[in-house]
Amino acid sequence: MAICPACDAEIEVDEFDVDQGDELSCPECGEALEVASLSPVELELVSEEEDEDKKGLDDEEEAVDEDEDEDEDD
Ligand SMILES: [Zn+2]
Repeated sequence: MAICPACDAEIEVDEFDVDQGDELSCPECGEALEVASLSPVELELVSEEEDEDKKGLDDEEEAVDEDEDEDEDD
């Protein structure tokens, strides 16, 4: 049993039935999936589009640091 990364549906995949790199499609959402690893079987989305850097040119990642102050004054 594996989980579809696209829709989180449980897909019946026998690890002995597939090989790493095998492609299949999710029966729920029809997304093309690829076997990323075996035992446990993990699926990942097949990215057919080769966008090497779709984003990342000016991707300023703001470090959102939510440090919760757990200062309990005694
Ligand atoms: Zn799916």
